[in-house]
Formats: sequence, C-alpha cells, structure tokens
Amino acid sequence: MELFIQITVFILGACIISFLKVIAQDYPNINYVRRSQCDYCHRILQWYEIIPIIGYFIVHGKCSSCKNQIDFNNPLQEFLGGIFILLVVQFGNLNYLPLFITLIILGFSDAFYGYIYPIFYLLALPTIIWHFSTVHFLTAIIIYLSLFLLNRKSLIGLGDVEVLTILALVFDLNIILRIIILACLLCIIQFLFNKKRSYRFIPYLTIATGIIYLIFLFKT
Ligand SMILES: [Zn+2]
Repeated sequence: MELFIQITVFILGACIISFLKVIAQDYPNINYVRRSQCDYCHRILQWYEIIPIIGYFIVHGKCSSCKNQIDFNNPLQEFLGGIFILLVVQFGNLNYLPLFITLIILGFSDAFYGYIYPIFYLLALPTIIWHFSTVHFLTAIIIYLSLFLLNRKSLIGLGDVEVLTILALVFDLNIILRIIILACLLCIIQFLFNKKRSYRFIPYLTIATGIIYLIFLFKT
C-alpha cells in the first residue's frame, strides 16, 4: 500500500474513532448539528480544535478560554485507533471491521455510562454473516449459559456476557480464552495504578480483542 493511502486510512481511522466516541456519548439523543463544546466551560470549540489528534496539540492540551486540561486519552485513543484500523485494512481481514466498530462503540458507552444499548450489537451483523459458515453457535450458547448461570451474584454485567457471546460466535474458544485472560490482566494492571472496587469490563474486552487479533494476524 502506498504511503499516501496509508496516511489517508490512518486519518480516516482516527476520525472514525472520534465519531464513534460521540455516538456512544450522545446515544439515544444524537444531534447531528450539535457543535462540540469544552467539557468544563461549554465554550463551542473552533474547527481546528476538533481535528482528531492534532487539535489537542494545537491548543497545547488546554482549553483556550478556561485553561482546563483536556484529557490526553482523547488524542491517544484516536492515534491508537487510527493505527489499529490501518493495520486491519492493510494486513487483516476487512470482514472483521464491523465487529471492531461495534466493540469500540460498546467500550466507549460502558466507560462513560456503565451500561450499553443492545441495539449496537446489530452493527456486528455484517461480520457474523460473512463468517456464517464457520459461526460457532454451540460455543456461543455454552459461553452464554455458563456465564449467565455463574453470574447469580452479578459479579459481571449481563452486557459483558452478551459481548463475550458475540465474540464467541466469530472467534474460536482458544482465542476467546486469550481475550478474557488479557482483559483480566489489563484490569489488574489498571488496579495497580488506580484502586477501584469495580471495573467496567467492556473497554478491556475491546482492547484485548484488538491486541489478540493483531497477534494472530502477524503470527500467521
Ligand atoms: Zn473550557
């Protein structure tokens, strides 16, 4: 792939991440004409401030009117998301993109609000249909029922169980177990820095799925 196309895909990827974040934040009250605001002083942002990644550095990571720090996670997520989408487009299988987009929206939604809208599951349908001949119905049902029954004390949310079930439809059990182990490891690492009593698990599942997918992609 030529450098120009790689850069274009990367920029598009970063824009997609930024767009998915807005959807996750606003749903179900999506307003297409809403202008982005500063989280603190609610000043309407200038066009250059909302450019993915670069906007953050143009304003030196601070709101130009109230001087509050802008969360560095914003440009970081856009950068990593752009790289991830570029790697999937260049080396991976485009069939998986709808599933990844679903996971990213669900991850943002869970991180913001602690719950997810099941309607977003529909976004993963193209991936499931593409892989229909190899969909693991039995594994998915076993994973759903066992987690559902084990979960009497609501240690994990129903949303987490449903997301794992969708993953189990597409990936085989070996990959699912690695995703769960890595997601738990990421939770433990997070715990070392920030001791919380409960975790919103879907963002970790999203990151773990991305990493495991890339590892399998470059190993084979
Ligand atoms: Zn401000």
